[in-house]
Parts: sequence; C-alpha cells; structure tokens
Amino acid sequence: MDHEALRIWSKRAADWAADYHASLRDRPVRAPLDPGAVARKLPPSPPETAEPMERIWADFQAIVPDGMTHWQHPRFFAYFPANAAPASMLAEQLVNAMACNALIWQTSPAATEIEQVMVDWLRQALGLPEGFVGTIHDSATNATLSAVLTMRERALGWRGLDEGLSGAPALRFYASAETHSSVDKAIRVAGIGQRNLVKVPTDATRAMTGAALAAAIAADRAAGLVPAGVILCAGGTSVGAFDRIADCVAVAQAEGLPTHVDAAWAGSAMICPEFRPLWAGVEGADSIVFNPHKWLGAQFDCSVQFLKDPGAQVRTLGLRPTYLETAGREEIVNFNEWTVPLGRRFRALKLWFVLRAYGLDGLRQRIRDHVRWAVAARDRLAALPGVEIVTEPRLSLFSFALETDAATEALLQRINDDGRVYLTQSRVDGRFVIRVQVGSFDCREEDVMLLSKTVQEMLASCSSGPLP
Ligand code: PLP
Repeated sequence: MDHEALRIWSKRAADWAADYHASLRDRPVRAPLDPGAVARKLPPSPPETAEPMERIWADFQAIVPDGMTHWQHPRFFAYFPANAAPASMLAEQLVNAMACNALIWQTSPAATEIEQVMVDWLRQALGLPEGFVGTIHDSATNATLSAVLTMRERALGWRGLDEGLSGAPALRFYASAETHSSVDKAIRVAGIGQRNLVKVPTDATRAMTGAALAAAIAADRAAGLVPAGVILCAGGTSVGAFDRIADCVAVAQAEGLPTHVDAAWAGSAMICPEFRPLWAGVEGADSIVFNPHKWLGAQFDCSVQFLKDPGAQVRTLGLRPTYLETAGREEIVNFNEWTVPLGRRFRALKLWFVLRAYGLDGLRQRIRDHVRWAVAARDRLAALPGVEIVTEPRLSLFSFALETDAATEALLQRINDDGRVYLTQSRVDGRFVIRVQVGSFDCREEDVMLLSKTVQEMLASCSSGPLP
C-alpha cells in the first residue's frame, strides 16, 4: 500500500466511521462474545506475501466491529467514559497522517507549543489559578506515577535517583481507600512498597478528612517513619468520593508534604463553576491530574497533569543525553523530561479542536445534561420494586442494588446480556452494587431513560427465570 492508495482507503475509512457511529444505537454495547472467539478467526501465522487491501478490509469488517465493546455507544454507562468527540477524531486523523514523535521541542515544535497553550487553556477552563503549568501524559496512571516518583525523590533529597532505595528510610504515603488502583500501582512501581501506602479512614461521606490525615501522619512520625506525600481523591472510581481537599492540603502543607490530586474523571466537570465546591482547596495542591479523554471528548489518550513547580518533576524524570540536546536553546521545553516515556504523541491537537469546535459552553452543557439525566435515572430506578439506591449521584455517578449480592450480580448479567445498555459493578462496604455513570458524548435523555426501562424489563423477566 502506498500513499495514493491511502488517499482512497482513508476516504473509505471516513465513510465507514460515519456509518459505524450512525449504527451504534442498533448494536449491543458490550461485545457478546466468548473469550477466544476473535483470535480463532485469525490465521496462526503472518503472511509471507502482501495481501490486497480489499481482502484486509473485508476481514476487518467481518471480524472487528462485532468483536468490540462500543465505547462511543450512547448507552455506555459502564466504568467511566472514554469519549471521542467527532472533532477529536478529526484531529487524530491529522496527527496520524503526520505520525510524529514529539519527544523534544525540536522534533515537533507545534506539538510542544500547542501542548503548552492547551494546558493553559484547560487551567483557565477548570478555574485553576495562574502559576500551574503542566503536560499531557498518556494516562492518569503515568501522571500519578510521575507525581509519586517526584514526591519520593523530594523526601530522599534526590538521592534515590543515584543511590537507589536500598538503605533509604521507609517512606510513607497517604490516600483513602476510595482512590483508584493506579495509586497502588504507582506506589509499587516506585519501590515504596504497598504496605507504606497508608489507607486513611474516610468519614460517612467516604471523604478523607484533615483530622484523619493528621492522625495518620502523627502516628507514623511517632513510630519513626518518614511521611513523604499525600494523594487526594477528587471523584473516586467506585462511587465518586471526594476527599476534603482544602483541609487535607492544609494538613499536608503544615507537615511539609506535597500533594497530588487524582481528578481523572471528575476534573472535566470543573469546567462548570457550580461543581467546583467539590474540590475546593485544589489550588493548594502541588500536582493535579485529570483526563480529558474521559468526560471532555478529547479521546484516549489524553491525561493532563497540572504542576505548581515542574522543576521538581523534571529533576526527577528529566535526562538530557547528548543525542537529545537542542543546541543553544535553553529556554525551550522538552516535555519528555516531565514524563516517564521518552517518545510522545501529539495529543494537544485534539484538545485544540475539541475546545474550539464545541466551546466551553457546549462542553459545559453536555456535562450538566449528564448530571441532570443521572439524577432523573436514579429517581426512576428508585421507584422500581426491590431496587435500592446505595450511593446517591456524585456528579453523574451513582449505584444501586437488589436485596442480595447474588440477585444484584444476576441482574447485572441479564442487563449486559440484553445489550441495550452497559453497566459495571463495584463494592460499597462489602456489598455488590451496580454502578451507573452517565457521560457518553453522544447520549441523549432518552438513552439514559432506557436504563430504568431495561432494568424494569430484566426484573420482570425474573418470573420466567427467577433471580437468586
Ligand atoms: N483515577 C481515576 C479516578 C480513574 O477512574 C481512573 C480510570 O478510570 C484512573 C485514575 C486511571 O486512569 P488511566 O486509565 O488514564 O490510567
């Protein structure tokens, strides 16, 4: 295949994409497949000779779309969304065409400079004060890992980079059990050791309070351990918990500890000023991560980390061997020095397109609609016999359950086998619950309302095959 053939096929791909999106409401959201079903359709070894694109295309159509769970489906209510607005897809097509590696400024100046400006646009959009700068990672996991490595090195006086961790004091980090497992992973990968991640107890609203954090730090200091950093939850994955950010940041600052806020999902909602009280005090944090690839429409991968002092992170992660030097240009930013990987995609273009194509007003309207529809869906579900709302909507996320775990699990399976909507599970105080998050970029009110109708029908179908 050459570039002239690509011209033809990419037009065909654009038509296919439009038809695919138009067909989504008629498809089951979750792939109705058994494991291995797709792999069995592929030859066991690679072709020795080139194949015609017609045949490759036909196989794609025959095998792939029906083997996918459709993340852009308007009735995708599982996990968190990974939204791809049409304007984002267009930008990604252009990025694909240029296929750059933006590892240093010189290798893709537009990628670096648009990234700087987009991070600042987003800082303003989220209501963060001047002074925060930032970068775009592939994932919140890598942003949090970068923050944890930086906090580790701060605590060690940057000795860990050179000497390693053997002989270093046991460093202690603090987070609530509502934070995402990416925090646990970062702690493990950073060589801190899972047992040194203190899961600070939460209050009745599932928030870490300043008092609980202070008590955990004091207990560690009394035991001769070395507190090194605090990771705060702003919109937990399970049921949307928010720590008391202002109080916890104040405690951390009084203790001389840096803070990192994980707002991977909920951060997008902060473009709406009315939701900002949920993370009040965030401006005191040293590092904040949020994923425009979740709820803003700039598709995966796009995870923004705001930093008050990038110097500490660059000191931790930045290396500049001769082959990466940019002669005589000390003022430029080489973003690989802010992140773990060297190679980096041009992720800022989709932000530029999305922010301009929908405007903050358009994006706010979507998020407000999602929150409003989630509350309406909660009310409809609450009215169904046997359904209990377990956690109330936090932004657009809530959970419900039936009387027993077995019944709730069986209901979830029926809902997802039915395919009109897709939901996933969590545990709340040990109880199996069904999570509902409303956030698909293209969803309409009637899509959300189909949720309670589906649940109602699945409950009614119990008469022909009872739930346990
Ligand atoms: N933090 C929260 C609150 C999340 O919900 C998630 C993923 O859903 C993550 C972090 C990890 O995000 P990523 O997939 O970008 O690493």
